[in-house]
Amino acid sequence: MTDTLIPEIDESKAAIERLGLRTQAFIDGEFHDAISGRRYMTENPATGQPIAEIAEGGPADVDAAVAAARRAADDGRWSRLSPGDRKRILVRWADLIEGDARELGLIETIDSGKPITDTIGLDMPETAGCIRWHAEAADKLYGQVAPSPEGTVATITREPVGVVGAVIPWNYPAQMAAWKLGPALATGNTVVIKPASTTSLSLLRIAELGSEAGLPDGVLNVVTGPGDVVGEAIGRHPDIDCLTFTGSTEVGRRFLHYAADTNLKRVLLELGGKSPQLVFDDVTDLEGIAANVAVAIFWNMGENCSAGSRLIVHRSVKDRLLEAVRAELRNWPVGDPLDPATRIGALVSRGHMEKVLRYVRIGREEGARVVTGGERILEETGGWFVPPTIFDGVRNDMTIAREEIFGPVLSVIEFDTEAEAIALANDTPYGLAASLYTDNLNVAHRVARALRAGVVGVNAYSEGDMTTPFGGYKLSGFGGHDKSVHAHDQYTETKTTWIQLRSG
Ligand code: NAD
Repeated sequence: MTDTLIPEIDESKAAIERLGLRTQAFIDGEFHDAISGRRYMTENPATGQPIAEIAEGGPADVDAAVAAARRAADDGRWSRLSPGDRKRILVRWADLIEGDARELGLIETIDSGKPITDTIGLDMPETAGCIRWHAEAADKLYGQVAPSPEGTVATITREPVGVVGAVIPWNYPAQMAAWKLGPALATGNTVVIKPASTTSLSLLRIAELGSEAGLPDGVLNVVTGPGDVVGEAIGRHPDIDCLTFTGSTEVGRRFLHYAADTNLKRVLLELGGKSPQLVFDDVTDLEGIAANVAVAIFWNMGENCSAGSRLIVHRSVKDRLLEAVRAELRNWPVGDPLDPATRIGALVSRGHMEKVLRYVRIGREEGARVVTGGERILEETGGWFVPPTIFDGVRNDMTIAREEIFGPVLSVIEFDTEAEAIALANDTPYGLAASLYTDNLNVAHRVARALRAGVVGVNAYSEGDMTTPFGGYKLSGFGGHDKSVHAHDQYTETKTTWIQLRSG
């Protein structure tokens, strides 16, 4: 997949310039410097080297973007297009993203440290696929006629909320944007979106492709800059009607304050997780389970909201399973994210790597035992690399079992009975995802029902696909769900129209 692109890549300035990076805010169909003129540097996490300077937006840039989005919402240039026309433009956009998957994947990899095989092979096709899926739904969403009394007609219709403010994280920069933009735009809203300041480059190029596809000016606006400035200005803006946020629980809480303190805008929160993977004693395919366990915690360097960071395993199979996971890790080379063989690239920033290593230190201090990994590696590259790290002997009350690490760190916890496994799995402030492995149908159904999580994989580590909603319980968020037709509800108002008929 990456064979023809990779040999052209080097990290020289010229190679980066050939990518034609977009580094300004995208407002009302055009790229602009920040009104203050300020810029900040984004760097390559695999080398620590600078890539490009990006416009450092502030409240004035958010005002300009919201004004453009408001004009576009109010004059109906998007919401009043026929759903079929909206669909055609969004499908064209998805096609352009897919067509540029190599270039976009390369941009994503140098900006985020994610392996190139993932960014080109998964992130970009899934970004395009998400936008296409919602686009295809745009002209298939029906209203309802209520069973109202004789002499009346009552319709229940859906209307766009208006201007949506979106703030997204750095772990899947393009995909998280698509999870918001697909349903918000398909249902006729206009959007002001802020990418994470460390990973803004792919979204800026994707926004440009949106214009090429025919998105009218002002419908999609991207403001780059720091979260506590640009994110807060979006959160507090009185002319934004709905906030959709994906990120940490800590910052998610702030969005509730922003809305409560201003215009009570609708708030949709997709937050953190500490997801369990349960393995029962009847399982037979330990190699297959080990492969899933590794994907669940080490894919995307563990920088994954639904990462299965707690392996809750029956005491009688634990040693054999751990052996199988360690054997599986031979298939997970850590290294240069531009190398197609790499499965684990660099963590997103020095600060994040230090946070992950701090948790590893705390795990050791609290008495858990490192089975593999646990130290920074490849320091000579200048990048931020931590190999797969497994802690055995973890108790569920240890810090590493309670707090989201968001790195390649697995905590192994033993259990003896089904009831104990369920209690351990649910003993967490989070409730985003869970997976369970058993060959017993009764255990599968009983435990899947008992788990307090928004997505449960049975004999799978899976978030489902675009047809299934994604979102969490408890501190993992609320207000709506990403993906599937359920995502459309959160970006629409429900209108009742009650019509009294005159008697004939
Ligand atoms: P984060 O909360 O630090 O940042 C998320 C976004 O919020 C960024 O764009 C950031 O700039 C912005 N932000 C930061 N401070 C802000 C403030 N004071 N006001 C407004 N905006 C602010 O999260 P992150 O480190 O970028 O991403 C990791 C987190 O995201 C993890 O907790 C992970 O679980 C979560 N996540 C959740 C999902 C999901 O679907 N539930 C998906 C991906 C990531």
